Amino acid sequence: MVNAAGKFGPYTGWDTRVLAGRGPTGAELVRSRIALRVRLGSVSPGDRLPDAGVLGEELGISEITVRRALEAMCQDGLLDRRRGRAGGTFVASDWDAVVAVLHDAEEAAALDAFHLLLECGLVAHAAGELTGERPGDRPDGPSDESPQGPLDGLRALVEEMDLTDDPAQLLELETRFHLDLAQALGGAGIREFAADLLGRQCLLGPAPDPALVRARNRCHADLLDELARGAMDPAVRAVKAHRHAEPR
Ligand SMILES: [Zn+2]
Repeated sequence: MVNAAGKFGPYTGWDTRVLAGRGPTGAELVRSRIALRVRLGSVSPGDRLPDAGVLGEELGISEITVRRALEAMCQDGLLDRRRGRAGGTFVASDWDAVVAVLHDAEEAAALDAFHLLLECGLVAHAAGELTGERPGDRPDGPSDESPQGPLDGLRALVEEMDLTDDPAQLLELETRFHLDLAQALGGAGIREFAADLLGRQCLLGPAPDPALVRARNRCHADLLDELARGAMDPAVRAVKAHRHAEPR
C-alpha cells in the first residue's frame, strides 16, 4: 500500500497488535502456528492434531494454555473435537471456508506492511555480510566436500517454485522461502518471529493467486542475486517489488 506521499503506509493504520514489544499470547501462538502448518502442508484439513501436551512442548507453552486455545479454535469452527477411541482434535475439513469468514483486510494489510519492514531491515542488516560465495569457490579456501552457501537453500526453493504446477505446493514453497529468508538473514529467533507474522497472515487474508506467486518468485530470484553481490539498495528494491508484484 502506497500513500499519497509515495511512502508505505498507512502509518496511522498501525495496529498495536503487530508491533514488537509484546510477543503473541499462548492462544495466538497456537492459532498462528496451526495455520502455518496447514499452509506448509504438514497437517491438512481433516487431519488429527498432535495431543495438547505434545503441541505445548513444541511451542514452549503449557498444556493447559494449548487446551484453551484449541477449545477456542473449535468454537470458531477451525478445529473439530471428536470423542471416542479414534477421537482427538482435528483440523476442520472445511478449513478454507471457515478461514475465509475470519478474514480481516485491515489487519492483514497492517501485518503485510510490517512484514515488508522486517524484510527490508533484515536485508539491510545482512548486506555485505552475506554473499553467494561458497567456501570451495575460493582458490585458497578450504576444499569442503559439500560446500553450502547461506543462499543455496533459498535458490533451490526458487527453482522448485518455477517447476511446480500445483497451487498448494506453490503456496507452501512461497511461505517456506520467507521463513528460510528470515533465518538466513536474521537467525533462528527471527525465523520464529517471521513464523508468527506469516501464520497470522494465513488466517487474515485470501491466499495469493498462483500467477501472483510466480511473479513474486522472479523478485525472490532478483533478491538472491543482489544479496549474493552484496548490493543493498537493489536487494531492498527487490523486496519492495515483491510486495507490488503483479501477475503477468
Ligand atoms: Zn515471496
